Amino acid sequence: MDDRALYQAILGLQAPWQVAQVALRMEPGEVEVWVAAAADAAFGCPECAAPSPIHDHVERRWRHLDTCQFRTVLCARVPRVRCPTHGVRTTRVPWAEVGSRFTLLFERLAIAWLREATPSAVARRLGLSWDEARGIMARAVRRGMARRQPAVVPHLGIDEKSFLKRHQYVSVVVDLDGARILHVADDRQAVSLAPFFQGLSDRQRSGITAVAMDMWEPYRKTLRMHVPEADAKIVFDKFHVM
Ligand SMILES: [Zn+2]
Repeated sequence: MDDRALYQAILGLQAPWQVAQVALRMEPGEVEVWVAAAADAAFGCPECAAPSPIHDHVERRWRHLDTCQFRTVLCARVPRVRCPTHGVRTTRVPWAEVGSRFTLLFERLAIAWLREATPSAVARRLGLSWDEARGIMARAVRRGMARRQPAVVPHLGIDEKSFLKRHQYVSVVVDLDGARILHVADDRQAVSLAPFFQGLSDRQRSGITAVAMDMWEPYRKTLRMHVPEADAKIVFDKFHVM
């Protein structure tokens, strides 16, 4: 097994990505693993998955798990695609999250250590800055949240609140059973609520059984757009719902 095949296996790389070159740099004590996509690989827009032509490449580096005593860095020229809808976007790579300078495997190691020791001890031993350690923790929390099955909230309350008696409003969506705030947005227009409903799954939308809200047409309009049989579910008295 040559060094490329070795790293290909260790990294668990899948097509179209493969190890192109492995360079051991004795002076900084570093292994550079260059990964490249097959020349005929096709890529999609990271936003909408539409097949998009490659615009250019950007060189990126991610710290990976050490190889013996050597710090190991994954390097790749990542394609940027030109989506007809979203413009030029950097494609996602399977070994790291967007915006991270570490591979997922390295982040997993850091998280395992963070369960055993203080963040400053882990940062010191792994040679991370405080910001890097914090970023790794924040991404782990986000991944945990994303794995959680989104709950159905059957009873919603929608309120407009004015600021300091001025004619400036915010729209607030609350879970009436759990007394939790689910969404806050500027203004009291239909567009204020739309992102909340757009973020719900079909299961969550059809699981809404009652919505307590003020008689306010833009709210009703949004509800009609996003919630099946909305008119039958609107209640203009919060206590009635509860
Ligand atoms: Zn797109």
